[in-house]
Amino acid sequence: MKRVMPYALVLALCAIGTPVAFTRITRAPDWQWCGELVSRVETTERVVALTFDDGPSERGLDAVLPVLKARAIPATFFLIGRTLERNPDLGARLLGDGHELGNHSYSHRPMLWLSQDDIAREVESTDAILRRVGFRGPILFRPPFGRKLLGLPWYLASTQRTTIMWDVDPESYVQAASDLVAYTREHVRPGSIIILHPMTKSGGETRAALPAIIDGLLSDGYRFVTVSELLALQEHSDAVPAR
Ligand SMILES: [Zn+2]
Repeated sequence: MKRVMPYALVLALCAIGTPVAFTRITRAPDWQWCGELVSRVETTERVVALTFDDGPSERGLDAVLPVLKARAIPATFFLIGRTLERNPDLGARLLGDGHELGNHSYSHRPMLWLSQDDIAREVESTDAILRRVGFRGPILFRPPFGRKLLGLPWYLASTQRTTIMWDVDPESYVQAASDLVAYTREHVRPGSIIILHPMTKSGGETRAALPAIIDGLLSDGYRFVTVSELLALQEHSDAVPAR
């Protein structure tokens, strides 16, 4: 019995630990096994990029766009291809306000175990929809749920695409609007990428927090840029790229 116990314990810990470790690896915001991944850039300039995932939804745009417009702030919206396809007018609204659009897959299903053909369909069809609504310039990609393992990074690397993750994810740690503001201000540093989800039905606290998040960071001396502008800053600096 004494001998069996340690093995049983190790097996139990593995059974509990393996899924946790697996999720950690596949959701790691600052690592993937191949291709370029950016979760922030190294810079001494107080610049920050706001990124909004999912949608577009009218609810989200009605809440977010006036806030950004009033402060002349650009942002990057990682959109779901299928949702954008059904709502091209919302894409046009985003472009009309000068924001950057990114690819967040066509169906927003987890892409961990998809074949290369299925990955290609998810990525390429969404790029095509982004072009159809009028987006010009390089298209950045963010995986659904931020999850990636082998096939997705391989596809993105072999088609010279950059994976954009984040280093500030307030919604994963706090919920109330005031806490989202405080968390974000506390964790943003020069070159940060913030992820928020104001498009979804459950994004009410995020929508409520957004004006104070932006105003707080402005008063902390930050300037807002799109993710592409942030990447360009990195390319023009001598700093080591964040990978
Ligand atoms: Zn998403």
